[in-house]
Amino acid sequence: MALEKYKEKRNFSKTSEPAGSEKSSGGELIFVVQKHQATRLHYDFRIELNGVLKSWAVPKGPSLNPAEKRLAMLVEDHPYDYKDFEGSIPSGEYGAGEVIVWDRGTYHAAGTNDRDESEELVAGGFEKGDLKIFLNGEKLKGEFALVKMKRRGDKEWLLIKHRDSYSSTEDIAARDKSVLSGLTLEEIKQGS
Ligand code: MN
Repeated sequence: MALEKYKEKRNFSKTSEPAGSEKSSGGELIFVVQKHQATRLHYDFRIELNGVLKSWAVPKGPSLNPAEKRLAMLVEDHPYDYKDFEGSIPSGEYGAGEVIVWDRGTYHAAGTNDRDESEELVAGGFEKGDLKIFLNGEKLKGEFALVKMKRRGDKEWLLIKHRDSYSSTEDIAARDKSVLSGLTLEEIKQGS
């Protein structure tokens, strides 16, 4: 099962992360980017695909600048319900630290708005290690590619903005508040 690794790593009597199960959104496919102050700060980039969230940890976070290719480490599938998770993972638990929903929205495969066709294209692209998606987020918009680095094993991918009317040299990471609560990681930490 797709979520076995996710469940193995976590003790749901201790963490408030969702145990979750496979499920899908009703309308358009969704994506979420969580900013996560674990041992090292990173951004978790997740796209809905066939009932789970395919997930990559992006140390520097996404960029709107096509010249900035961002390392994205493939991690275990997360449950769909993880899209709403924000808060603190207790110390001693896997991924201990604060999490905010840094961005979220809908997405489709580049070239089609159709949900089924998008899932098929993205699933095929995932297998090939080369997928192209169009994001409609609050911070991230436009076309992005996720490309597996072939000589680097299975886990290392690059997240790259394609040049379009949304590409920009704006430092999008400077917009550091949650799109869910308006809180920063620091404010979550102070409140916990
Ligand atoms: Mn993380």
